[in-house]
Amino acid sequence: MVPVASGGLVATAAAAWSFATAGPSGATLAGLAALLAAAVLAEAFPVPIEGVAVGATSLANVFIVATAVIYGWAPAVLVAFLAISVVEIARRRPPIRLIFNMGLYSLASGAAGLAASGATDEDLLGLSIAAFSASAAFWLVDVILLAAVVARSSDERLVPYAWHYVFWTAIPFAIMASLAVLLVVLWDLSPLIALVLIAPMVAIALYQRSVQHSLDRLRELDRLKDEFVAVASHELRTPLAAVYGAAITLRHQDLDAKARDSMLDLIFQESHRLARIVNDVLWASQLESGRLGTNIEKCDGVELADEVLAEAKARLPDGASLELVASDPVPAVAADAEKLRRVLVNLVDNAVKYSPDGGRIRVEIDSANGHVRFAVQDEGLGIPDSEQERIFDKFHRLDPNLQRGVSGTGLGLYICRELVLQMNGRIWVESKVGTGSRFSFELPVAD
Ligand code: ADP
Repeated sequence: MVPVASGGLVATAAAAWSFATAGPSGATLAGLAALLAAAVLAEAFPVPIEGVAVGATSLANVFIVATAVIYGWAPAVLVAFLAISVVEIARRRPPIRLIFNMGLYSLASGAAGLAASGATDEDLLGLSIAAFSASAAFWLVDVILLAAVVARSSDERLVPYAWHYVFWTAIPFAIMASLAVLLVVLWDLSPLIALVLIAPMVAIALYQRSVQHSLDRLRELDRLKDEFVAVASHELRTPLAAVYGAAITLRHQDLDAKARDSMLDLIFQESHRLARIVNDVLWASQLESGRLGTNIEKCDGVELADEVLAEAKARLPDGASLELVASDPVPAVAADAEKLRRVLVNLVDNAVKYSPDGGRIRVEIDSANGHVRFAVQDEGLGIPDSEQERIFDKFHRLDPNLQRGVSGTGLGLYICRELVLQMNGRIWVESKVGTGSRFSFELPVAD
């Protein structure tokens, strides 16, 4: 690392000296400023290339290599040094990495300059060869120095590492070398025309980034879907087995009244669990397909919450209590009654489910600033700060260790958020691990 950093610093100092003593003209300075600006932009917004395993690729090399061919090694080293320092300092990279990257870029661009000076013909072919050789020199120095540092720090042999790097970066190199040739040839025709090339390059880079972003999201969704199918089938199997077992017991054995009641209770609880899973999947698929119309009307939020609580109380486990606290009087709310009920059912269900040791669950309703606010508060497991946004994402569940094995599909809160948004409201959570959670949502008051 030290040789690269110090070699780079020496190269930069020599380049600065050589550049200053050469006394560049105004036109040269203007051309260099344009290339430097382009290199900074390209370094700041690297382009992900599908199928390339080394992450996003910076196209800054194209402009550095072009500088080397057009203006020589010294300006190329300075452009490389300045471009990387501006971007790395703005990204607040650790100083050691900053100095190393500066060294790497300076040495690679020095090599590009030397390679370019080898090709002396000023015709189209000569320029193309110069740009290609400069690109190749930049790439090889960059890759070999990087491989040397990695191999040294992990006590491995250099050659296999260098081969690996060359192999991984061959596609970006080919793209950049051809762009460099294009840029240099156009610059030879007219620098202004060459600068016009920047616009389509930026457009391609932005498009490529957005495509990559969408691809990443699709892959993530695909992974989550696979996970969901596995979880949902497991989730369905467990209550089904319990209901089946209880039904067989009820049918075949002479049971006393108490045992019979407990079997019926089991069937009741487990069928509810099954119904919740199936309902969640149906709601989520309807939301996904955009088939869900919204019928906003004047609703009595307190009456609705009362019904939801009455149902939930019927299957409340021992040690848990459930109460409704409504300020007096609560105005009517502008909502789709069926959706509002679903949101309340899911939040109350979660409050019960994630309070495995029982505790008080309170549903509060009041109004302020033209909104009716509903809150479901529990004394359950709680949610870490870092997860409080993401639990509303589709399929997102906390680490099983944090939820003591409580099962679920990760769809409930996603459905709540989407439904509340469709009813022109908002939903949020306040929670502390070990103390409990408070899920609140508010909807407009009905006129
Ligand atoms: P699930 O079917 O897993 O319950 P949800 O979308 O309803 O899916 O909830 C997502 C995650 O948020 C849950 O897996 C759980 O980790 C966490 N969570 C939801 N409600 C609560 C709550 N009241 N207390 C603690 N954690 C909760």
